[in-house]
Amino acid sequence: MKYIDYYETLGVEKTATEKEIKQAYRKLARKYHPDVYQGDAKKAAEEKFKLVSEAYEVLGDPEKRKKYDQLGMNWQSGQDFEPQHGRQSYSFHTAGGSDPRFSDFFSSIFGEDLFGAGVPRGRQAHRMAGENVDAEISLSITELVQGGQKELRLSMPQVCPACGGERYTQRGVCRTCGGMGTTEEIKTIAVNIPPHLYEGAVVRLKGLGGKGYGGGPSGDLLLHIKAAKDKAWQVVDQINLETEVTIYPEQAVLGDSVSVSVPTGTVKVTVQPGIHSGQILRLRGKGLKGPQGVQGDVLLKIRIDVPKSLAAEELDLYRRLAELRKH
Ligand SMILES: [Zn+2]
Repeated sequence: MKYIDYYETLGVEKTATEKEIKQAYRKLARKYHPDVYQGDAKKAAEEKFKLVSEAYEVLGDPEKRKKYDQLGMNWQSGQDFEPQHGRQSYSFHTAGGSDPRFSDFFSSIFGEDLFGAGVPRGRQAHRMAGENVDAEISLSITELVQGGQKELRLSMPQVCPACGGERYTQRGVCRTCGGMGTTEEIKTIAVNIPPHLYEGAVVRLKGLGGKGYGGGPSGDLLLHIKAAKDKAWQVVDQINLETEVTIYPEQAVLGDSVSVSVPTGTVKVTVQPGIHSGQILRLRGKGLKGPQGVQGDVLLKIRIDVPKSLAAEELDLYRRLAELRKH
């Protein structure tokens, strides 16, 4: 028999993480799912599907993967493979012939584990933890600062109720989940968003991910935080908040104290006499809280504006100013 490189089958690196392996498997299982094909193509797809499933059966299971990796150190893809003595106890033959789901190569390595000890692979026999689910959420500046409750509509994987995540039933590839081991469930959930977040933060909500199976715990929901576009505020360097503050010419000339509402409340800001348009006032620590608790600033960009309609008296004063400047 030939040595099968399961990493090659799934198109992943030998160092691939569990997540990468799962993703690769899902992609290929969808691509080669026999139900999608007809005629000759169906047969070819079936073969491919079987091999991909087998690769995932091994690489998707940390224990099997370890065993396979140990073995694989001395073998190359497609090399003639001779099972080691002692390992090749084909005890599963007595349990009703080799399993048609798997190649001889697979059976020669794992046959014993799967069928030898007489462990029932029935549904009662296993518990499965639910999957962690990644979701993105856009928050307004206020929500980033203060947190709050949000409703989310999510497609959640749940362990397939028909095969219990085993991907196979006695009749072959599970029809309900198409051999994926999970099905999708659309759910609306209310989540409590904690305060002090920033774009790029990840909030882990325990137990709000995919449902487990057989009493297994639910997975977590990982919320990837995005800052929503805001009319007033612009996020600068992840943690600083910039906005424009409009003042009148006389405030710019004489200086003033102005109230500005920032996400954390209202602050009094001193405008120094002679301030320029475009000048930036920095309010330390009033911005967003960033990674490792770094506190951002609020940046106030000064804009000097002339009131649209001026009273006659005001106009007179401007004329006087103009006169004065001539001398
Ligand atoms: Zn299933």
